[in-house]
Amino acid sequence: MQSLPRNLWFEPTNTCNAKCPLCPTGSGQLSCSPACLDIGFYKRVIDEVQPRTVHFWNDGEPFLHPHIFEMFRYAADCGAVTYASTNGFVFYVCKVALKTSFMIRRLNVEPR
Ligand code: SF4
Repeated sequence: MQSLPRNLWFEPTNTCNAKCPLCPTGSGQLSCSPACLDIGFYKRVIDEVQPRTVHFWNDGEPFLHPHIFEMFRYAADCGAVTYASTNGFVFYVCKVALKTSFMIRRLNVEPR
């Protein structure tokens, strides 16, 4: 019997617009190159796994990804509940998040 995960975590990008000293991204200590998650790969994973929840956070500011709202929309259209964590420094994020709140169940704003 095959079992797939119900909850997925994605790192839309490993770049950030903050420089928190205790964070590997903010302090420039990440060993990998700056990158953004490929939207085609993301959609293939969502299609295959059909997760119940999709979380966007890790070592970077998710709202810097150029297709982040498309990623929210795609997950929501597939029936997943979406969560994100942001430093809130992208000034329009809260405004846009309110307009798209039907796609985002919870938005953590946590500048460290
Ligand atoms: S806002 Fe978050 S990801 Fe960005 S530098 Fe600070 S802790 Fe790291």
